[in-house]
Amino acid sequence: MAKYPVTRTTAPKAKPDESSLGFGKVFTDHMFLMDYTLGQGWHDGRIVPYGPFALDPSCMVFHYAQEIFEGMKAYRTADGSVQLFRPYENARRLNNSADRLCIPQIPEEDFVEAVRELVAVDEDWVPHAAGTSLYIRPFIIASDAALGVHASKTYIFCIICSPSGSYYAAGINPVKIYVENDDVRAVRGGTGFTKCGGNYAASIRAGQRAEELGFAQVLWLDGVERKYIEEVGSMNVMFKIDGKVVTPELRGSVLPGITRKSCIELIRSWGIEVEERLLSAEELFDAAETGKLEEAWGTGTAAVVSPIGEMKWNEREVVVNGGQIGPITQRLYDELTGIQWGRIPDERGWIVKV
Ligand SMILES: *Cc1c(COP(=O)(O)O)cnc(C)c1O
Repeated sequence: MAKYPVTRTTAPKAKPDESSLGFGKVFTDHMFLMDYTLGQGWHDGRIVPYGPFALDPSCMVFHYAQEIFEGMKAYRTADGSVQLFRPYENARRLNNSADRLCIPQIPEEDFVEAVRELVAVDEDWVPHAAGTSLYIRPFIIASDAALGVHASKTYIFCIICSPSGSYYAAGINPVKIYVENDDVRAVRGGTGFTKCGGNYAASIRAGQRAEELGFAQVLWLDGVERKYIEEVGSMNVMFKIDGKVVTPELRGSVLPGITRKSCIELIRSWGIEVEERLLSAEELFDAAETGKLEEAWGTGTAAVVSPIGEMKWNEREVVVNGGQIGPITQRLYDELTGIQWGRIPDERGWIVKV
Protein backbone atom coordinates (compact mmCIF):
# COMPACT_ATOMS: atom_id res chain seq x y z
CA MET A 1 0.00 0.00 0.00
CA ALA A 2 1.46 3.28 -1.08
CA LYS A 3 1.62 5.84 1.71
CA TYR A 4 1.70 8.92 -0.53
CA PRO A 5 -0.75 9.96 -3.28
CA VAL A 6 0.64 10.32 -6.80
CA THR A 7 -0.30 12.91 -9.41
CA ARG A 8 1.25 11.68 -12.66
CA THR A 9 2.70 14.04 -15.22
CA THR A 10 0.69 14.49 -18.41
CA ALA A 11 3.87 15.45 -20.29
CA PRO A 12 6.52 12.77 -19.69
CA LYS A 13 9.98 13.82 -20.88
CA ALA A 14 12.19 11.87 -23.28
CA LYS A 15 14.84 9.82 -21.43
CA PRO A 16 18.41 11.02 -21.94
CA ASP A 17 21.10 9.02 -23.76
CA GLU A 18 22.63 6.71 -21.13
CA SER A 19 26.10 6.99 -22.58
CA SER A 20 26.45 10.71 -21.79
CA LEU A 21 24.51 11.33 -18.59
CA GLY A 22 27.02 13.36 -16.59
CA PHE A 23 25.89 14.43 -13.13
CA GLY A 24 22.88 16.40 -11.92
CA LYS A 25 21.77 17.99 -15.16
CA VAL A 26 18.67 15.99 -16.09
CA PHE A 27 15.77 15.37 -13.73
CA THR A 28 13.03 12.74 -13.72
CA ASP A 29 9.32 13.29 -14.33
CA HIS A 30 8.24 13.49 -10.69
CA MET A 31 9.27 14.84 -7.31
CA PHE A 32 8.19 14.29 -3.73
CA LEU A 33 6.85 17.16 -1.64
CA MET A 34 5.78 17.41 2.00
CA ASP A 35 4.92 20.53 4.02
CA TYR A 36 5.58 21.42 7.62
CA THR A 37 3.51 23.87 9.58
CA LEU A 38 4.12 24.67 13.23
CA GLY A 39 1.40 23.03 15.30
CA GLN A 40 0.44 20.64 12.51
CA GLY A 41 3.78 18.97 11.92
CA TRP A 42 4.76 17.36 8.60
CA HIS A 43 1.71 16.86 6.39
CA ASP A 44 0.51 16.32 2.82
CA GLY A 45 3.34 14.11 1.60
CA ARG A 46 2.73 13.61 -2.13
CA ILE A 47 4.34 12.74 -5.44
CA VAL A 48 3.73 15.34 -8.16
CA PRO A 49 5.09 16.27 -11.60
CA TYR A 50 8.62 17.72 -11.43
CA GLY A 51 8.53 21.48 -11.69
CA PRO A 52 9.56 24.88 -10.30
CA PHE A 53 8.59 26.31 -6.89
CA ALA A 54 6.94 29.67 -6.43
CA LEU A 55 8.48 31.20 -3.30
CA ASP A 56 8.20 34.66 -1.79
CA PRO A 57 11.46 36.62 -2.30
CA SER A 58 11.64 37.18 1.47
CA CYS A 59 11.60 33.43 2.04
CA MET A 60 14.04 32.56 4.83
CA VAL A 61 16.07 30.00 2.95
CA PHE A 62 17.22 32.71 0.50
CA HIS A 63 18.65 34.93 3.21
CA TYR A 64 19.82 32.78 6.09
CA ALA A 65 20.39 29.42 4.41
CA GLN A 66 18.26 27.38 6.78
CA GLU A 67 18.53 24.36 4.51
CA ILE A 68 19.77 20.77 4.67
CA PHE A 69 20.07 17.98 2.14
CA GLU A 70 21.03 14.37 1.54
CA GLY A 71 22.68 12.51 -1.32
CA MET A 72 22.00 8.87 -2.15
CA LYS A 73 21.49 6.59 -5.16
CA ALA A 74 19.17 3.92 -6.56
CA TYR A 75 20.94 1.11 -8.42
CA ARG A 76 19.66 -1.14 -11.23
CA THR A 77 20.62 -4.80 -10.69
CA ALA A 78 21.23 -7.46 -13.37
CA ASP A 79 17.69 -8.87 -12.91
CA GLY A 80 16.22 -5.42 -13.63
CA SER A 81 15.16 -4.65 -10.05
CA VAL A 82 16.06 -1.39 -8.30
CA GLN A 83 17.63 -1.03 -4.87
CA LEU A 84 18.87 1.52 -2.34
CA PHE A 85 22.05 1.40 -0.24
CA ARG A 86 21.65 2.02 3.53
CA PRO A 87 18.80 4.58 3.17
CA TYR A 88 18.09 4.53 6.93
CA GLU A 89 21.57 6.00 7.42
CA ASN A 90 20.55 8.93 5.20
CA ALA A 91 17.31 9.31 7.19
CA ARG A 92 19.26 9.40 10.46
CA ARG A 93 21.83 11.86 9.14
CA LEU A 94 19.15 14.16 7.74
CA ASN A 95 17.61 14.27 11.21
CA ASN A 96 20.99 15.03 12.82
CA SER A 97 21.43 17.87 10.34
CA ALA A 98 17.84 19.01 11.05
CA ASP A 99 18.51 19.12 14.77
CA ARG A 100 21.54 21.41 14.31
CA LEU A 101 19.71 23.76 11.92
CA CYS A 102 16.49 23.93 14.05
CA ILE A 103 14.55 22.16 11.30
CA PRO A 104 11.82 19.69 12.36
CA GLN A 105 12.82 16.04 12.01
CA ILE A 106 11.10 13.52 9.74
CA PRO A 107 10.37 9.99 11.03
CA GLU A 108 12.95 7.64 9.45
CA GLU A 109 10.26 5.33 8.06
CA ASP A 110 8.47 8.24 6.36
CA PHE A 111 11.72 9.41 4.78
CA VAL A 112 12.67 5.98 3.42
CA GLU A 113 9.12 5.34 2.20
CA ALA A 114 9.06 8.71 0.39
CA VAL A 115 12.33 7.82 -1.39
CA ARG A 116 11.08 4.32 -2.26
CA GLU A 117 7.72 5.47 -3.60
CA LEU A 118 9.22 8.28 -5.68
CA VAL A 119 11.87 5.98 -7.18
CA ALA A 120 9.15 3.40 -7.89
CA VAL A 121 7.07 5.99 -9.78
CA ASP A 122 10.14 7.07 -11.79
CA GLU A 123 11.59 3.55 -11.99
CA ASP A 124 12.04 3.75 -15.78
CA TRP A 125 14.49 6.59 -15.15
CA VAL A 126 16.95 4.34 -13.30
CA PRO A 127 19.55 3.79 -16.03
CA HIS A 128 20.77 0.33 -17.08
CA ALA A 129 24.31 0.97 -18.40
CA ALA A 130 27.25 -0.24 -16.28
CA GLY A 131 28.18 2.16 -13.49
CA THR A 132 25.15 4.41 -13.97
CA SER A 133 22.58 5.08 -11.23
CA LEU A 134 19.73 7.35 -10.22
CA TYR A 135 21.09 10.07 -7.95
CA ILE A 136 18.55 11.07 -5.28
CA ARG A 137 18.60 14.49 -3.65
CA PRO A 138 16.27 14.95 -0.65
CA PHE A 139 16.33 18.46 0.89
CA ILE A 140 14.44 20.67 3.31
CA ILE A 141 14.10 24.45 3.01
CA ALA A 142 12.78 27.08 5.44
CA SER A 143 9.81 28.68 3.73
CA ASP A 144 8.55 31.46 6.03
CA ALA A 145 8.23 34.76 4.17
CA ALA A 146 10.00 36.92 6.79
CA LEU A 147 13.41 38.52 7.34
CA GLY A 148 13.66 38.19 11.13
CA VAL A 149 16.48 35.85 12.15
CA HIS A 150 14.87 32.89 13.90
CA ALA A 151 13.78 29.38 13.02
CA SER A 152 11.15 29.26 10.31
CA LYS A 153 7.67 28.02 11.25
CA THR A 154 7.09 26.40 7.86
CA TYR A 155 9.26 24.12 5.73
CA ILE A 156 9.18 22.22 2.46
CA PHE A 157 10.69 18.74 2.19
CA CYS A 158 11.40 17.85 -1.42
CA ILE A 159 13.08 14.93 -3.18
CA ILE A 160 14.33 15.17 -6.76
CA CYS A 161 16.09 12.49 -8.80
CA SER A 162 18.64 12.66 -11.58
CA PRO A 163 19.95 9.81 -13.73
CA SER A 164 23.72 10.00 -13.45
CA GLY A 165 26.58 8.58 -15.48
CA SER A 166 29.37 6.30 -14.40
CA TYR A 167 31.81 8.30 -12.29
CA TYR A 168 34.66 6.31 -13.79
CA ALA A 169 33.64 6.21 -17.44
CA ALA A 170 37.30 6.81 -18.35
CA GLY A 171 38.66 4.34 -15.75
CA ILE A 172 39.67 4.89 -12.11
CA ASN A 173 42.43 7.47 -12.34
CA PRO A 174 44.11 8.65 -9.13
CA VAL A 175 43.76 12.40 -8.59
CA LYS A 176 46.12 15.19 -7.52
CA ILE A 177 45.10 17.06 -4.39
CA TYR A 178 46.32 20.17 -2.67
CA VAL A 179 46.31 21.10 1.05
CA GLU A 180 44.36 24.33 1.58
CA ASN A 181 46.03 26.54 4.22
CA ASP A 182 43.77 29.59 4.14
CA ASP A 183 40.08 28.85 3.69
CA VAL A 184 38.45 26.35 6.04
CA ARG A 185 35.32 24.33 5.37
CA ALA A 186 33.95 23.99 8.88
CA VAL A 187 34.78 24.33 12.56
CA ARG A 188 33.79 22.37 15.62
CA GLY A 189 30.65 23.94 17.06
CA GLY A 190 29.59 24.95 13.56
CA THR A 191 27.79 22.87 10.96
CA GLY A 192 30.59 20.70 9.56
CA PHE A 193 28.91 17.45 10.62
CA THR A 194 25.69 18.38 8.83
CA LYS A 195 24.88 18.31 5.13
CA CYS A 196 23.82 21.93 4.74
CA GLY A 197 24.14 24.22 1.76
CA GLY A 198 26.07 26.80 3.79
CA ASN A 199 29.06 24.45 4.15
CA TYR A 200 29.25 24.18 0.40
CA ALA A 201 28.99 27.94 -0.16
CA ALA A 202 32.06 28.38 2.06
CA SER A 203 34.01 25.69 0.20
CA ILE A 204 33.60 26.88 -3.39
CA ARG A 205 36.47 29.40 -3.45
CA ALA A 206 39.15 26.95 -2.34
CA GLY A 207 37.88 24.36 -4.80
CA GLN A 208 38.08 26.91 -7.59
CA ARG A 209 41.62 27.90 -6.59
CA ALA A 210 42.75 24.26 -6.49
CA GLU A 211 41.33 23.69 -9.96
CA GLU A 212 43.12 26.74 -11.34
CA LEU A 213 46.37 25.32 -9.96
CA GLY A 214 45.73 21.97 -11.69
CA PHE A 215 44.44 19.94 -8.73
CA ALA A 216 41.24 17.91 -8.66
CA GLN A 217 40.34 18.50 -5.00
CA VAL A 218 41.21 20.39 -1.82
CA LEU A 219 42.53 18.58 1.23
CA TRP A 220 40.91 20.49 4.09
CA LEU A 221 42.64 21.22 7.38
CA ASP A 222 40.81 21.76 10.68
CA GLY A 223 39.53 25.30 11.16
CA VAL A 224 41.07 25.97 14.58
CA GLU A 225 44.71 24.88 14.43
CA ARG A 226 44.94 24.45 10.63
CA LYS A 227 46.97 21.38 11.37
CA TYR A 228 44.84 18.27 11.14
CA ILE A 229 43.48 16.65 8.00
CA GLU A 230 39.67 16.68 7.81
CA GLU A 231 38.26 15.81 4.37
CA VAL A 232 39.08 15.89 0.68
CA GLY A 233 36.74 18.05 -1.40
CA SER A 234 33.29 16.83 -0.43
CA MET A 235 34.52 13.35 0.46
CA ASN A 236 35.88 11.75 3.60
CA VAL A 237 39.51 10.71 3.41
CA MET A 238 41.47 7.60 4.41
CA PHE A 239 45.16 6.73 4.39
CA LYS A 240 47.00 3.44 4.74
CA ILE A 241 50.06 4.19 6.84
CA ASP A 242 52.44 1.47 7.95
CA GLY A 243 49.90 -1.33 7.60
CA LYS A 244 46.98 0.44 9.31
CA VAL A 245 44.18 2.53 7.89
CA VAL A 246 43.94 6.00 9.45
CA THR A 247 40.95 8.32 8.97
CA PRO A 248 40.10 11.64 10.68
CA GLU A 249 37.86 11.12 13.69
CA LEU A 250 34.38 12.67 13.83
CA ARG A 251 34.77 15.68 16.14
CA GLY A 252 31.94 17.82 14.78
CA SER A 253 33.66 19.41 11.78
CA VAL A 254 33.90 16.27 9.62
CA LEU A 255 30.85 14.98 7.75
CA PRO A 256 29.92 11.46 8.91
CA GLY A 257 29.89 9.80 5.49
CA ILE A 258 27.92 6.62 4.95
CA THR A 259 30.61 5.43 2.54
CA ARG A 260 33.21 6.20 5.24
CA LYS A 261 31.26 4.15 7.78
CA SER A 262 30.80 1.28 5.30
CA CYS A 263 34.52 1.29 4.39
CA ILE A 264 35.53 1.18 8.07
CA GLU A 265 33.20 -1.79 8.65
CA LEU A 266 34.54 -3.65 5.60
CA ILE A 267 38.23 -2.98 6.32
CA ARG A 268 37.85 -4.17 9.93
CA SER A 269 36.05 -7.31 8.71
CA TRP A 270 39.14 -8.03 6.56
CA GLY A 271 41.30 -8.06 9.69
CA ILE A 272 42.98 -4.71 8.99
CA GLU A 273 43.15 -2.19 11.81
CA VAL A 274 41.36 1.16 11.35
CA GLU A 275 42.26 4.14 13.53
CA GLU A 276 39.83 7.07 13.75
CA ARG A 277 42.04 9.80 15.15
CA LEU A 278 43.68 13.15 14.57
CA LEU A 279 46.18 13.06 11.71
CA SER A 280 48.27 16.16 11.08
CA ALA A 281 49.42 17.21 7.63
CA GLU A 282 52.95 17.03 9.07
CA GLU A 283 52.53 13.37 10.07
CA LEU A 284 50.95 12.54 6.72
CA PHE A 285 53.67 14.14 4.60
CA ASP A 286 56.41 12.70 6.85
CA ALA A 287 54.87 9.24 6.35
CA ALA A 288 54.80 9.80 2.59
CA GLU A 289 58.42 10.96 2.50
CA THR A 290 59.66 8.00 4.55
CA GLY A 291 57.80 5.46 2.42
CA LYS A 292 55.19 4.61 5.09
CA LEU A 293 52.18 6.02 3.24
CA GLU A 294 50.93 3.07 1.21
CA GLU A 295 47.57 4.32 -0.08
CA ALA A 296 45.29 7.36 0.08
CA TRP A 297 41.68 7.69 -1.07
CA GLY A 298 38.51 9.72 -0.67
CA THR A 299 35.11 8.14 0.04
CA GLY A 300 31.62 9.33 -0.90
CA THR A 301 28.37 8.28 -2.56
CA ALA A 302 29.24 9.85 -5.93
CA ALA A 303 32.65 8.22 -6.53
CA VAL A 304 32.45 5.39 -3.93
CA VAL A 305 36.25 5.63 -3.56
CA SER A 306 38.55 8.08 -5.30
CA PRO A 307 42.25 7.15 -5.19
CA ILE A 308 44.71 9.95 -4.47
CA GLY A 309 47.87 9.76 -6.58
CA GLU A 310 49.67 12.99 -5.65
CA MET A 311 49.49 15.50 -2.80
CA LYS A 312 50.95 18.98 -2.37
CA TRP A 313 51.30 20.98 0.86
CA ASN A 314 53.26 24.24 0.66
CA GLU A 315 56.50 23.21 -1.03
CA ARG A 316 56.13 19.54 -0.26
CA GLU A 317 54.89 17.33 -3.07
CA VAL A 318 54.51 13.56 -2.76
CA VAL A 319 53.38 10.72 -5.00
CA VAL A 320 51.26 7.97 -3.41
CA ASN A 321 51.69 4.33 -4.45
CA GLY A 322 53.46 5.33 -7.65
CA GLY A 323 50.36 7.27 -8.71
CA GLN A 324 48.42 4.01 -9.02
CA ILE A 325 45.24 2.81 -7.27
CA GLY A 326 46.27 0.66 -4.26
CA PRO A 327 44.97 -2.81 -3.30
CA ILE A 328 42.72 -1.72 -0.38
CA THR A 329 41.23 1.11 -2.46
CA GLN A 330 40.51 -1.32 -5.30
CA ARG A 331 39.06 -3.93 -2.94
CA LEU A 332 36.75 -1.35 -1.32
CA TYR A 333 35.59 -0.21 -4.74
CA ASP A 334 34.90 -3.77 -5.92
CA GLU A 335 33.13 -4.81 -2.71
CA LEU A 336 30.96 -1.70 -2.33
CA THR A 337 29.96 -1.42 -5.98
CA GLY A 338 29.37 -5.20 -5.98
CA ILE A 339 26.88 -4.88 -3.12
CA GLN A 340 25.26 -1.71 -4.51
CA TRP A 341 24.60 -3.15 -7.97
CA GLY A 342 23.66 -6.57 -6.54
CA ARG A 343 26.62 -8.55 -7.94
CA ILE A 344 27.73 -9.54 -4.43
CA PRO A 345 25.26 -10.87 -1.83
CA ASP A 346 24.31 -8.33 0.85
CA GLU A 347 25.32 -10.02 4.10
CA ARG A 348 25.02 -6.93 6.26
CA GLY A 349 21.43 -5.79 5.62
CA TRP A 350 22.61 -2.71 3.71
CA ILE A 351 20.27 -3.09 0.77
CA VAL A 352 16.62 -1.97 0.67
CA LYS A 353 14.62 -2.99 -2.40
CA VAL A 354 12.45 -0.33 -4.03
C1 LIG B 1 28.08 13.94 1.59
C2 LIG B 1 29.46 14.27 2.05
C3 LIG B 1 30.44 13.28 2.25
C4 LIG B 1 30.23 11.83 1.91
O1 LIG B 1 29.16 11.22 2.53
P1 LIG B 1 28.53 9.88 1.93
O2 LIG B 1 27.41 9.58 2.85
O3 LIG B 1 29.60 8.86 1.96
O4 LIG B 1 28.11 10.20 0.54
C5 LIG B 1 31.67 13.69 2.75
N1 LIG B 1 31.94 14.98 3.00
C6 LIG B 1 31.03 15.95 2.79
C7 LIG B 1 31.40 17.35 3.10
C8 LIG B 1 29.77 15.64 2.31
O5 LIG B 1 28.88 16.61 2.11
